[in-house]
Amino acid sequence: MFDVEAIRRQFPILHQQINGKPLIYFDNAATSQKPRQVLEALMHYYTTMNANVHRGIHTLAEKATEAFEATREAVAKMINAPSKEQVVFTRGTTESINLVAATYGRAFLRQGEEIIISAMEHHSNIVPWQMICQEKGAVLKVIPINQAGELLLEEYEKMLSPRTRLVAVMHVSNALGTVNPIAEIVRLAHQQGAVVLVDGAQAAPHYAIDVQALDVDFYVFSAHKMYGPTGIGILYGKRHLLEAMPPYMGGGEMIKEVTFQQTTYNDIPYKFEAGTPNISDAVAMKAAVEFVQQTGFQTIAAHESQLLAYATQTIADIDGIRIIGTAKEKASVLSFVIDGVHPMDVGMLLDAKGIAVRTGHHCAMPLMNYFGIAGTVRASFAVYNTKEEIDVFAKELRKVAHALR
Ligand code: PMP
Repeated sequence: MFDVEAIRRQFPILHQQINGKPLIYFDNAATSQKPRQVLEALMHYYTTMNANVHRGIHTLAEKATEAFEATREAVAKMINAPSKEQVVFTRGTTESINLVAATYGRAFLRQGEEIIISAMEHHSNIVPWQMICQEKGAVLKVIPINQAGELLLEEYEKMLSPRTRLVAVMHVSNALGTVNPIAEIVRLAHQQGAVVLVDGAQAAPHYAIDVQALDVDFYVFSAHKMYGPTGIGILYGKRHLLEAMPPYMGGGEMIKEVTFQQTTYNDIPYKFEAGTPNISDAVAMKAAVEFVQQTGFQTIAAHESQLLAYATQTIADIDGIRIIGTAKEKASVLSFVIDGVHPMDVGMLLDAKGIAVRTGHHCAMPLMNYFGIAGTVRASFAVYNTKEEIDVFAKELRKVAHALR
């Protein structure tokens, strides 16, 4: 039996009052809260083993390196990567995408070739591709969506051609909750010889990801949305691609040998990890991986899907409400507008009641333009949220809608 109270007890931050009310944290798609085991891992790292990783021969350096590499191993297992060398530490999803755009893009993208993204992408999966397309004279194409917020796969299929070099799509939409059919997207891209990068920022917290089953070429995500610390994230890549890609940043760690005439680069993943990495957060990320694995992805997804269904149904009859994102397959995100009411006003009045939601364009301005809106109110759920919280949220939202309309 799933015991949400037992889960909640592991999250110290949840047990506080905000503006005189018990905190209801529904901004999980922006960043999730952290369980005690992650906080303790950080403290443990700094109080027992802090040292710079790799190359050190003293005991602390060895301990720190072991802990750092243990996370790489744990992440590789979690996403079923064939080897831990294919797991590169970055600052997060944004840096992972920029890394691929800058290195793969710079080395292999030719004038007139095409990159395909989708109409629902986060700015971090739009702008890096725009930048590299501009630099290389390549063309950015956009898979359209329907009013439910689903990709039009037949349009995507028509768009693919031998000119397509890379397809970059999100697994789960942060603004709509749509779950995209990644395996099918990959299969179609591969038929044309294109590689696929998947932005898994919103999928990794909810689903067991199997990079081999999906056959993705690159898969990227951030620890902070999956109960881990900020400032650390993952780039998974197929070995032959990572090996063929030039380095991203130059500096220590990413080299084998340096002379003033010439430098040879380190093997993967270190080729992409110049400088002192974010060791402490990488080490603590292992505790986050263990948290989701101990809780179980099936349990997490089942609980969140119940919360989403319950919340959707509970707010549906509020006057003037329109849910943005009604895809058949959705995860954990409830985005909506109330006719005649500014999302920011809703957010502010809910905050006065201790309820944290996100309002605005959710870093998806082109998507908001498609729906003809400036932004939405977004409630996004995590494994520690409850039906009772949704009841309070719905009651307060009803009052807010009534007051503002
Ligand atoms: N992609 C998606 C779908 C996201 O939701 C986010 C975070 N809002 C990002 C990318 C960027 O992640 P980060 O800020 O951790 O780099």
